[in-house]
Amino acid sequence: MLAQWLEEGLRGRTEFGVSGAGDLAATLMPKGLIGALWLQAALAITGKADYRQCTDCPTWFALSPEQGRPDKRFCSDACRMRAYRKRRKKAGRGKTREKETVGHNRKGA
Ligand SMILES: [Zn+2]
Repeated sequence: MLAQWLEEGLRGRTEFGVSGAGDLAATLMPKGLIGALWLQAALAITGKADYRQCTDCPTWFALSPEQGRPDKRFCSDACRMRAYRKRRKKAGRGKTREKETVGHNRKGA
């Protein structure tokens, strides 16, 4: 009965997607906040991985304990590197002159 309730909640609010550029992962992606809440409820009840939104883009990804990286904050290596470059740019302003890679900055790509 609980499973049915969850299934109905998740239906139409989640979709399968592939996240990541370096380490690809097929994940169940919530559509918007409500979907995310349903998915978190379902995962909490079933004891599965927690979901988190990428720090650098709107992608949701699974935090599975098997990966052994509970502090993961990015959906992919591409996002992690982008955030790293942003940080470095802020920290070393005027020191290093890096060319902007505008093509990689598109959201949701
Ligand atoms: Zn991302």
